[in-house]
Parts: sequence; C-alpha cells; structure tokens
Amino acid sequence: MKALRVSFSLCCLATAAWAGSAAKKPHLPDVFLVTIDTLRADHVHCYGDADIRTPALDGLAGDGIRFEQAFTPSPITNTSHASILTGLLPSDHGVTDFAVPLASDHPTWAELLKPAGYHTAAFIGAVILDSKTLAPGFDRGFDFYDHFPEHPKTKERWGRVERRGMEVVQHAEIWVGNHRSGPRFVWLHLYDPHDPYDPPEPFSSIYKERLYDGEIAYADSALGHFVAYLKKQGWYEGALVIVVGDHGEGLGEHNEDTHGIFLYDSTTHVPLLVKLPGQEAKGRAVEAQVRTTDILPTVLDLLGAKLPERLDGESLRPYFSGAESAERTAFGETDYPLRFGWAPLRSVRESGVKFIEAPRPELYDLHSDPKELHNTYGPGDAEVHKLRAMLAELGKKMPARASRDTVGQGASEELRALGDMGPVGSTSVPEPSLLPDPKDKIEEQNLLHKAMLAADDERTDAARDEFKKVLEIDPKSPTALVQLGQLELAAKNYADAAEYLGRAVVSRPGDATAAFDYGQALQLTGNLAGAREALQASLKLNPNLFSARLLLARVYLGLKDMTAAEDQVEAALLLQPASVEAQLSMAEVLVAERRFAEAVPQLLAITHSLPSNTEAYALLAQAYTGLGRQAEAKAADNRAKTLQARAKSR
Ligand SMILES: [Zn+2]
Repeated sequence: MKALRVSFSLCCLATAAWAGSAAKKPHLPDVFLVTIDTLRADHVHCYGDADIRTPALDGLAGDGIRFEQAFTPSPITNTSHASILTGLLPSDHGVTDFAVPLASDHPTWAELLKPAGYHTAAFIGAVILDSKTLAPGFDRGFDFYDHFPEHPKTKERWGRVERRGMEVVQHAEIWVGNHRSGPRFVWLHLYDPHDPYDPPEPFSSIYKERLYDGEIAYADSALGHFVAYLKKQGWYEGALVIVVGDHGEGLGEHNEDTHGIFLYDSTTHVPLLVKLPGQEAKGRAVEAQVRTTDILPTVLDLLGAKLPERLDGESLRPYFSGAESAERTAFGETDYPLRFGWAPLRSVRESGVKFIEAPRPELYDLHSDPKELHNTYGPGDAEVHKLRAMLAELGKKMPARASRDTVGQGASEELRALGDMGPVGSTSVPEPSLLPDPKDKIEEQNLLHKAMLAADDERTDAARDEFKKVLEIDPKSPTALVQLGQLELAAKNYADAAEYLGRAVVSRPGDATAAFDYGQALQLTGNLAGAREALQASLKLNPNLFSARLLLARVYLGLKDMTAAEDQVEAALLLQPASVEAQLSMAEVLVAERRFAEAVPQLLAITHSLPSNTEAYALLAQAYTGLGRQAEAKAADNRAKTLQARAKSR
C-alpha cells in the first residue's frame, strides 16, 4: 500500500489513458461509490450537526475531501441517481420519473470503467432502483446487479421493497471478497433514511424523538462496517471512495414532509465526500458550490479514462489542490409534480441567489435568507432576467422529453408499495403554467403520501381516512379518487368503489386505467350497461388494455351480445395469443353461442396443457352436455368438482 501512495498522485493516472491502448495498463484503484438516500447535508455531523453521530462519514471526510456545497439537480431517487451515474442533467438523460428507461446512448459509470478491466457490481437498498422493474437500464455495465426477488416470500417491507443498509453492505462485502483481483467498481445504495423512518435498535431508542436522524446514524453504521471491512482486507488505503446523498428531505420546511415536489435547499443540498487513493488532499473542505453531475467526470479524469461526448458536469479535480475555488452553476429540475397534475419546476442557483421557475416564480437571496423564506421575485428584476435566460438556454440544449407513459402495471404496484402514486396515465401534459402551482398543493401531497404508505401496509382504515382528508381539501383530486376507488374495490365495497371511480374519470378523463377500474366496479355492482360504457372509454384511450378487452367481452356476454363479445376476445387474443385466460374466454363465448363442437377441441387443448384448470373442465362439461355426450360431460363435471374441492381445502 505504501508503494501505491507514492505512485498515485492527482495527475499521474490521467496520462495513462486506457482506451484502445496497447501499452501496459496503469495500476488502477478500486472505486467504491456509496449513495445514501434522502440524506440532508445539515443532518450529518461533519456538516455541522452536533446532535448526530456519523463517525463513518466523518472518518471519510477526514481522510478525503468534503464538499460543503454540493447540489443534486433532482430531488427524486431515480432521476438523481441517473445524474450521478451519467454526469447528465435530468432533462438530458431523460429519466425524469420512475420506470423511465435510461437510454442506451447515455454511457454509465460502470460501462465507462469496464474497458479498463474493472469488475463491476451494484448493491441496491430499494426496489425503485431495480433495473428489472423501476430502473430499466441502470444495470448496464454491471457484471452483477443485486436485484430484488421477483416473487418475494414476505409481505413485509424488508426484502420485498427495501433492504436495510447492513444487508446491502453484507451482500457487497461477499461479492468483493469473491472478486479479489481488482480493479473493482462497486456501487452501494443505502436507502435507510428514506421514509418511513424505522431504524433498528439501538438507533430507534437513541434517536426516538427524531427517527430520521436515527436512520442516518444507522446508515452511517452500515457504511462504517463496509469501511472497516475494506481496511481489514487492506483495500481502503488505495481505493477511491465517494459518498454522496441522492437528495435531502423536507422535514416540514416549506410544508414539504418528504421530497420530490420542491427544489429548495432542504431537498437539493447533499453531502459529497471524495476519498482519494493514498488519502491525497486529506481533510480538505471545499466551499465552492458544485454539483452531483460533476462526480462521474471527476472519476474519469482521475483514472485517465476517455470522457463521453455528452456531459453536463465537469471534473472536480482542480478543487482538490485548491487550484480552483469558483462556484459552479447548479440547475434543478423536478417533473414529479406532474404525476399529480401540478406544474413541474426548474431552478438555477448561482452567486448566492436561487431562482425557481413556477406558476408563481420565486427568487431568494441565499446570503440574507438561506432558508428561502422571503420570495423577492419581481418580473422586471435584472437578476430574474439573467437567470431565466440561463434556464431558457439550457432548455434549448436538451433533447426532446422522454415519454412519461411508460410505467407498466407491475411497476406501479411496486411504486405504490413505496408510497408513490403511480403514473398520471396517458393524459397529455398541458402547458405547465396552466397547471396548479405545487406550492398550493403541498399539504395535499403530504396527505397522499401518508395514505399510500398506509394502504401498502394494509392499514386500510387509516388509508381511507387520509384519502378522505385529501378530498376535503380538494374534492376533485384524481389521485385520491382513483386510490380510494381501488381501495374499496379490493375491500369488495363495489358501490363505493364505483362512486369514487366515477368521480375520478370525470376529473381525469384521460386516464385509461381509472376508466377500466370504473368499468370493473360497475360490472361488479351489476350495472352492465354502465360497465360497457366505461370499458369502451378505457379502450378508446388505450386500445392495448388486455384486461379491459376481456372484461368487456364478459360484460357483452351478460348483455347477450355474442358478436360483440367475440370481437373483444379476438382483440384480446391478438394482444396476447398465448393467454389461457383469453382462450378460456373464447371457449366461453362459443359455449354461450351454442357452438359446442368448436368449443370442445379448444377446451381439450387447455386441459391437456393445464390439467388442473377448473374453469376449463366446467366449460367442457357444458359443451359435452350441449352435444348430448352425457358420459363425457359427467366425467368433465366430476373433474371440475374435484379440482374445486381441492382448491378449497388448500
Ligand atoms: Zn432517493
């Protein structure tokens, strides 16, 4: 390790570019990136919070460089992480919401390090960063990506949607231990400080009055475990270790409980620590304002790697030696309010001033008003003109916006489990200035967030109460109406479900899923004509809704409109030709039309491949009866009854 300290300096690796070079590769350090979710800078000991213990973060600050003023361009997890992993702003990388794929033309940190021979692995603490569901594309370049189980055995949060920091760290330690020949690039994501705040002992006791801090202290202990492991193995000294928060937490400031809606410092100011190999520049604190988009360019610069063509950040290396002290302009973007039908926000932070573009724009003098409490915006203000021009200039450079309508059904289930609302549906986004200002909606968002967490924990009564509170503030809240409708649907209160969902489709007429749910509720209350209308509306908005096609077929059967039922099943089979559900529906239509001879071979084919399908045998019994083949009908009926009894006894 001593030799390494001598051989590594802030410049030497930069001369040994690896790409395509036949020359002997330089010795490259291990790179460890640790992102701590929802970590406000001012709740970390080495950032001035005297009331919390964060020895691991403090230790890294002592061994490395502490950036006092680092800002994320986004206050939500996936968007912010995409910026860290690509060095691009959200409107550039396009991951402006959960489940929006990271496009393959944006090379990621892991992809850029692989050509140098890095072994790469990612260990995530929340399912929202799982590349198989809500973070498609994030696994590019990783040899190993620690996915969540597809079929979790537990209904608890832990292991299903979230992993404790210590578990993330242990998975990482096992992998690192099994990949001893470097260099290695490992990304660890510690999700703990994200709400709900539920730290394990002893942190839940020590910090019982402020559980958010308890989660931070716990995450710090997990980080400490990892650092101790690296030290014990002799891998710490020579490694490049970077720790950064993905965003902060509102904690009630500006009435925002959590994060995502606003662009104030409470959710955009994050800790950033860089420990260089050999502890170069140890203990340095950098006052200048920098950005999390600067991290990737810094790493590539230090390793002497080729920079990707497009980058919104720049290397931080000049700050390490004190060669540079100038601040960098920090842009902020959030499209998260669009999810609720509210205006997206843009911000620019420069020269001690922050401008936020919103339906009611905001300007803050951060020197005299660091908490951003006194809006001094005036449309004629020269500062406003300048900052607005910068935002306009930035907007011109950005590629066209990625589609928001990409969240699949499975993905939205998982979002719900994490307290998110799911997609806005296929509504086209109106002019942002015509949408409500998120400042007028934040109380509603706090309640919605709480209600979703309650719904996920199956605290149905609590969820119902919270959603109703939202409706007291805003009787037309589409999110609350849809969620209440789905909640009553699941609770089998079909009339209540139909009432809420009926109001939801009026207030959000472009939402195909809400219209489908409404149709489902009406069908279950026996209102078939109403169900037909709702399902037709749903399919007009999204003709590819398979479940809506099948349900509409069933409704037509109930209305004795056999031709229309058959049309819908055929359309469903075009969408999913292998679907047994659709094949059974077709057989059902044939039986209803008394086309028994056609139904029999189709049903036999299903029973051959699925000998335990009760419905197939029940329909087969009907078809044989219709053909007068009593013995076969009896046999099929017996089989159906046996299967039914077996299913019941389970
Ligand atoms: Zn996050």
